[in-house]
Amino acid sequence: MQLKIYNSLTAEKEIFKPILEGNVGMYVCGPTVYSNVHLGNVRTFLSFDFIYRSLTHLGYKVRYVRNITDAGHLTDDGDVNNDRFVKQTRLEKLEPMEIVQKYTVDFHKVLDMFNLLPPNIEPTATGHIVEQIELTQKLIDTGFAYESNGSVYFDVLEYNARGLNYGELSKRNIEELFANTRDLDGQGEKKNPQDFALWKKASPAHIMRWNSPWGEGFPGWHLECTAMSTKYLGETFDIHGGGMDLKFPHHECEIAQGKACNGTSPVNYWMHANMLTMNSQRMSKSTGNYILPMQLVSGENDFFEKSFHPTIVRFCFLQAHYRSVLDISNDAMLASEKGFTRLMEALKILNSITPNDEKQSGFSLEDWKTKCYDALTDDFNSPVLIAHLFEAVKFIFALKDEKETISAKDLEDLKSTLNAFVFDVLGLQNIEENNNEKLDQTLQVLIELRNQARKSKNFDLSDQIRDKLLAEGIELKDGRDGTTYVLN
Ligand code: AMP
Ligand code: ZN
Repeated sequence: MQLKIYNSLTAEKEIFKPILEGNVGMYVCGPTVYSNVHLGNVRTFLSFDFIYRSLTHLGYKVRYVRNITDAGHLTDDGDVNNDRFVKQTRLEKLEPMEIVQKYTVDFHKVLDMFNLLPPNIEPTATGHIVEQIELTQKLIDTGFAYESNGSVYFDVLEYNARGLNYGELSKRNIEELFANTRDLDGQGEKKNPQDFALWKKASPAHIMRWNSPWGEGFPGWHLECTAMSTKYLGETFDIHGGGMDLKFPHHECEIAQGKACNGTSPVNYWMHANMLTMNSQRMSKSTGNYILPMQLVSGENDFFEKSFHPTIVRFCFLQAHYRSVLDISNDAMLASEKGFTRLMEALKILNSITPNDEKQSGFSLEDWKTKCYDALTDDFNSPVLIAHLFEAVKFIFALKDEKETISAKDLEDLKSTLNAFVFDVLGLQNIEENNNEKLDQTLQVLIELRNQARKSKNFDLSDQIRDKLLAEGIELKDGRDGTTYVLN
């Protein structure tokens, strides 16, 4: 089986060859934790969760690193994010690190809700200031960067003069870039408008600041990813991911920093996830065209007619390829819910099918499995994979109606393959089973409380618990080994 990955750097689907056979180093740009993530952010992280799960399923040992941007997200068009951060600390009357902690916890909760697996390493930018200062110093020493008024900038013209190619990822031409850039930030400090900050002098208003050889300041946003990816994955690693909007300037600058520091391109395969849109426009906080994940899941919003379980949202996202734009809508969610219910129903039916080794089945399990793996290894094509899963669903319904047969061996194979694709690779959750688990836990608590009431001779309360549960169709049965329950 050959895995093909679309590489944004070459704009081609390439056969994936990891640096170390059987192993994958993958870095994904993480969130800026100054406010809640919106559903669009979730889509990008979910796309890479699916890629991580797929790589693992295909047998690779993956080291997955996803950072937390918590150190003053510097942009080249002014200190926008710091302003946002200052405003937020005033508004919420919190310490900067309290803000960071609050939104990091929220981020984890949201991703957990959508069943995303945690990365293997989740480094923070503030935890790697020393590494960022060291990189900046190295770039000054090698002549790729210069200090100016307490800030340090990367010299893009010098980089190009040495035969390196700024713009190779975003396919931008440096002359055009110069012509089209307005110098808003670092006016008078930079040699050229395209030069980007590696270290920025802190203005009196800047709240997160560190000592450096160039005075008090804070690191540039692009540098944090270079520092952390190099530290945990090496000077060159296999996969770097992020949303499409990070291609330029963020990832372009990461390439430049990596090449200037180490003489090699930092990443072999650049992967970019496409955007989630709503009302056909990109979801974004700045335009107000966004929905928070909890608003969709709780139903507290004006856009969707009902609430949707997080796993339905996940299923909806995966029905689009990660490189395609996905427009979220009420109809799309309803259709996903319907499809998901049918998929779960088929899985349930499968457990009650009696195999038949006598008759020949009209469904070739081997061909079907090959098609599923072809889709997965064709640049992680989740919509095609899902379409194949629904061929199996159709077959399962035919089995139920006794229009088809399956051998005992194939039945076991179909069950384990479907379960692996649905739960391990797509990361879907069986809502019914989860609910049953919760119900069981709740009933065990009530049984325990009833036992305590009986021990303290509070028969009024113990009877009330029994009777009220019975009225809800839950019968408690006291036996020699304790109390059990029956759902009527
Ligand atoms: P940020 O916290 O702004 O750095 O964004 C975190 C991630 O979400 C980045 O990889 C962005 O590319 C991604 N992102 C932002 N907006 C969207 C969107 N509308 N759809 C998908 N991904 C997005
Ligand atoms: Zn990054």
